Amino acid sequence: MAALAWRVQVLCTNAMADFVTRFAPSPTGRLHLGHAFSALTAFDAARAACGRFLLRIEDLDAGRCRPEFDAAIFEDLAWLGIDWETPVRRQSEHMGAYARVLDDLIARGLVYRDFRTRRELADESQQAPHGPAEVVRGGPAPDEAERLAARQPFAWRLWLDRALDAIDGPLAFDCDGVRTHAEPHRLGDAILARKDFPTSYHLASVHDDALQGVTHVIRGEDLREAAHLHVLLQKLMGWPTPAYRHHALIVGADGKRLAKRDRAATLHALRETGETADAVRRRLGLT
Ligand code: GLU
Repeated sequence: MAALAWRVQVLCTNAMADFVTRFAPSPTGRLHLGHAFSALTAFDAARAACGRFLLRIEDLDAGRCRPEFDAAIFEDLAWLGIDWETPVRRQSEHMGAYARVLDDLIARGLVYRDFRTRRELADESQQAPHGPAEVVRGGPAPDEAERLAARQPFAWRLWLDRALDAIDGPLAFDCDGVRTHAEPHRLGDAILARKDFPTSYHLASVHDDALQGVTHVIRGEDLREAAHLHVLLQKLMGWPTPAYRHHALIVGADGKRLAKRDRAATLHALRETGETADAVRRRLGLT
């Protein structure tokens, strides 16, 4: 028995570097069953592969993130029986790193300033010749110099046409086990840095996955489109491309995707009513 345990440990030691995954919540509310499904799916996959499981706190949005939700993430995950490596990376502590990536993209002419307000974008989209356009494409506005001189705030957008010109080779990646050709135009010229802020979710998340050696990104299918952009960013920055796995989203009784406002489905509320972590696993169809 001891020999078997030793062999399993040796096998796992060798496999560790081959499989690194993460759960990356934002502390903007209490975790709910949807988060539990995501965290447990990634954690179980790491265990099955003798791999590593990381927790990353994506607390970029200072206006929405709260310390009490941050603390609750640790409490809820530990209650689910999940453990993670330390130290835990907190994105708010690494703004300089994200700003450097943005500076690099600016220097290479791969991003442009967008001064438009949400309102202006919505109006433009309504007037688009083919109906409301979901995505923005194009490059800098002709009045950029005046807007800059007037010190108007702006976001940085990826200049997709230039970015696609800047890469060589195919943009292929493993998406749910299928070799897939990335189609980053689905997201248009994505915002890589928000107004008065050196980064966005896309830039910070892709940077951190590379830095932390993540080999498998396991997350909800709502982010499947984003993977196409993330693969392009990796290629532009010379970072490796992980495999992407997407799981179904957990829906509430109304058939709609659970959101942080669904209080009854929070792990905290379930724990208060006496539910156990095993019962949560069963509810989610995880054994
Ligand atoms: N912070 C993101 C969220 O809470 C995570 C996205 C990801 O896993 O890349 O939705």
